[in-house]
Amino acid sequence: MTGKDQLRVIVVGSGLAGLATARVLREKCQVTVYEQSSPSTATGGQGIINYPNAIKIMNQLGFDPGRTGSVLVKGFRTLDKQGNIIFDAEFPFEEKYGAPALSHMRADFRAELLRLATAPSKDLGIGGEPATVIFNNGARDIDPEAGEVTLDDGTKAKADVIVVADGIHSRSRRLIAGSNCPQPKRNGMTCYRVVVSADQAIEALGGLPDWWQSLKNKDKRIQIFEARDGSGRIVVVYPLRHTDYMNISCVFATREEKDSTAQSWFAGGDPKELLRIFDDYDASLKTLISVSSTQLKVSELQDMEPLERWTTGRAILIGDAAHAMTPMQGQGANVSIEDAEAFRLLIEPGVTRDDVPTILKQIEKYRLPRATAILGNTRRTGRGVSGGERYKAMDENCTYHGIFEAVKQQ
Ligand SMILES: Cc1cc2nc3c(=O)[nH]c(=O)nc-3n(C[C@H](O)[C@H](O)[C@H](O)COP(=O)(O)OP(=O)(O)OC[C@H]3O[C@@H](n4cnc5c(N)ncnc54)[C@H](O)[C@@H]3O)c2cc1C
Repeated sequence: MTGKDQLRVIVVGSGLAGLATARVLREKCQVTVYEQSSPSTATGGQGIINYPNAIKIMNQLGFDPGRTGSVLVKGFRTLDKQGNIIFDAEFPFEEKYGAPALSHMRADFRAELLRLATAPSKDLGIGGEPATVIFNNGARDIDPEAGEVTLDDGTKAKADVIVVADGIHSRSRRLIAGSNCPQPKRNGMTCYRVVVSADQAIEALGGLPDWWQSLKNKDKRIQIFEARDGSGRIVVVYPLRHTDYMNISCVFATREEKDSTAQSWFAGGDPKELLRIFDDYDASLKTLISVSSTQLKVSELQDMEPLERWTTGRAILIGDAAHAMTPMQGQGANVSIEDAEAFRLLIEPGVTRDDVPTILKQIEKYRLPRATAILGNTRRTGRGVSGGERYKAMDENCTYHGIFEAVKQQ
């Protein structure tokens, strides 16, 4: 399809789901992304882990892990709060699932998605035109049946398809999923997170801790320092940007007397509070938390009961707007990238404007149960489960082969 026959697509939100969708659809459609914030907008954690279910798709979309300084994740290690290793296992992601697991700085990963959505087509070796991304002008209202979006500046934009990827606190969810649809709820855990550079670590500690050195050299693990005292406190550490940086996420039971941060994925945190809560942890870990120059971010973890529907008329919800889940399995963004890949159904030969509502229903039919299953296993494996159960969930999470395979299997 070319020119006037091409589907016009509006994507609401330039997060991970929105930009991945823009990359998929730009090959055949005219895509405009409206983002309410500035180009530097960032959501969620400092680091992010993408598992094989998403990396397989990203590779098909031209993802360049060199640009994101991605680190191969090769297994899991559990330590006690003093840093003694309790469990260590290599996990052969690539052999088992056909693609690696990678950790990277969230901002780098988002920048790579923005490149894939907007770079000249000849640079990516694909057809179609780059998506247009318009910042500082979000969606104030949408009319799913008419395919119309009212923007923050009061102007209106029309499209054949509206993909709503406006995150966990979606303004448009009720307009598509119904006025009484579920909304995100706190799960009782809070997550503080920082990124520390190797230079900062060396300056503060006189050298890298042994575990950092071993992550750098060979054993590229996700490390979980567990309190193991019934408090549920954990510190999750994994390398970023060629292991020159370390993501440190500290999870603990929410203290009810604190003000809620639930209206945002993150807010500024109080380092003194964090150090008090993890006072009995290894001194070097606490030093690393205190020397980080990045702003300490805090989020109360939230998820949402499954929606009954993701689509109405010409509009569809995807990403956290459709299926917010906690990061305890690190799958929210991966499932969002799977959602984006499902729009391949819209760029099949012969699809016309009239087919859009039916195809969006078809996408919902395959994607909603898949996201609900991962929400379920994220809840089940969040706390106090055996390694076996965690690995079973990993199989369910990582063995996804894209929308055409899902259609074939039904
Ligand atoms: C601490 C933490 C760690 C995490 N770690 C992982 C991990 O390791 N692996 C993983 O897979 N997932 C992880 N997640 C989950 C992951 O961050 C989310 O699932 C993912 O960001 C969802 O992408 P999204 O595009 O749906 O939403 P977002 O990334 O939140 O993007 C939404 C975008 O929409 C914009 N927006 C909002 N409203 C409007 C509007 N009205 N108009 C226009 N634009 C709008 C926002 O500004 C934003 O840019 C983590 C989450 C947290 C909190």
